[in-house]
Amino acid sequence: MTEFVLAPPAIASVAIAGSTERFAVRRIFCVGRNYAAHARELGNDERDPPFFFTKPADAVVDTGSEIPYPPLTSNLHHEIELVVAIGKAGFRIPREHALSHVWGYGVGIDLTRRDLQDQAKKAARPWDWSKAFDLSAPCGPLLPAAKSGHPGKGRIWLAVNGETRQEGDLAELIWPVADIVAICSEAVELQPGDLIFTGTPAGVGAVQAGDRITGGVDGIGTIEVTIGQPRA
Ligand code: MN
Repeated sequence: MTEFVLAPPAIASVAIAGSTERFAVRRIFCVGRNYAAHARELGNDERDPPFFFTKPADAVVDTGSEIPYPPLTSNLHHEIELVVAIGKAGFRIPREHALSHVWGYGVGIDLTRRDLQDQAKKAARPWDWSKAFDLSAPCGPLLPAAKSGHPGKGRIWLAVNGETRQEGDLAELIWPVADIVAICSEAVELQPGDLIFTGTPAGVGAVQAGDRITGGVDGIGTIEVTIGQPRA
């Protein structure tokens, strides 16, 4: 048995709807832009390939939490997203098999330090400091695909203090879940415990300390977090 010089870190995990068991998180992959503002054009040739960035596994936060306003930003943005939870390993997964690798679905918020992201884009620097900070991946309880099925449509929405800010439909995903899983698995071997945040619909915007963020995906679940004062 391996002995460690320091106690190993706690295993990051997210809740499972209707269960006391939790889903151990291995990695978090996130898709960049993935919703068409208008009806998607037919034909793969019209679509730019999806691109990915990552967050640390322990960036996950349970629904109902208060998240201190993070450091280094004055423009913290919400991005509501369908989250895909991988249950079966796969490398170069064919698109037609991709959904069999999905364990379940949830609703997440890709919190983003937009000012740092804008700076990074201008300087052609990595996105890590804008995306991969502490507590940057709130994720509601996962619903097993055995219960939810694999959603191809459904309203996705986010509100701040009860006022709707983001609204879309999963049918507007430029790259649907099966494509995202297949394409992600070309770059890395997906493993059980991996989460994929699938991109956000229009309407992203800033939140302030004291704001209450609620969101959901019809048929999948909801999430609610509040933004607290910055850490002292
Ligand atoms: Mn996002």
